[in-house]
Amino acid sequence: MARIGFGTVVQRNSFVRPIDPPDLRPYSEAVSDRRQIMWGAFALSIFGLPVRSFAEDVVANTVSDLVASNHILSSHGILDSYGHVSARSPTHADRFLLSRSLAPHSVTAKDILEFDLHGTPIGETASRLYLERFIHSAIYRARPDVMAIVHSHSAISIAFSISNVPLRAVTHFGAFIGRHTTVFEADPDGRNPTLLIANEELGIRLAAALGQEQMILIRGHGDVIVGPSVGIATTRALNAAKNAKVLLGSYRLGGEINSLTPDEDQALTKMETLDQEQREWIALKESVAR
Ligand SMILES: [Zn+2]
Repeated sequence: MARIGFGTVVQRNSFVRPIDPPDLRPYSEAVSDRRQIMWGAFALSIFGLPVRSFAEDVVANTVSDLVASNHILSSHGILDSYGHVSARSPTHADRFLLSRSLAPHSVTAKDILEFDLHGTPIGETASRLYLERFIHSAIYRARPDVMAIVHSHSAISIAFSISNVPLRAVTHFGAFIGRHTTVFEADPDGRNPTLLIANEELGIRLAAALGQEQMILIRGHGDVIVGPSVGIATTRALNAAKNAKVLLGSYRLGGEINSLTPDEDQALTKMETLDQEQREWIALKESVAR
């Protein structure tokens, strides 16, 4: 494909140059294009020609998605000045990509850093880092299926985190939440009064509490939502807030809550990964690209 050889450059210190505009093609078209690029790269490798641009192109797409996700979740009020979103590196499964310490609204491609799965930056950097990067490192280590993570201080999530009323899936778009959302206690013995997940030990405890679920609440602090791609993690973060608002509205109405059944949870969560469901992510990216 023509795109081979025209990829953007990943610098040696793991910073990545801005990539504009973001890839807004339909998901199926992009996947088909990537398959053709892979075959092109394979053909080039047979003749000993450099194929580095393929890896660069893949990383650049992930960085572009990460920047878009930061802006989308910030503009929808899910991320405040302190929340963050990350992606597992598409070329190194034992690394992840996360901005330096910045408000999500301000994040650009050049702010994205690479980290190992202990939360240590790859290469030297003088940048300030997010204190809670251990949320990401510990979950990527514990969950090979997770490719993206959103940590937010969403007000509606915090409301459920301090109540004994359970947060659960009651809408088709909130199916990934499941039957019951665990509330993580970040200060069980009074030694962590900030409630921040600011060291590796707390990150490991949080990842263990998340288990195989897609969302967890942190008491008085916020939530963590994971997904198989930046797009799905982003739409899940938006849909988790919508689901919580529907549930809250239903509680106000009184009477019994008719939640999704386990079969409905499973069937609807599976649908998220279909091409059709990428429509929401494409539309969201277009909204911040204008
Ligand atoms: Zn936090």
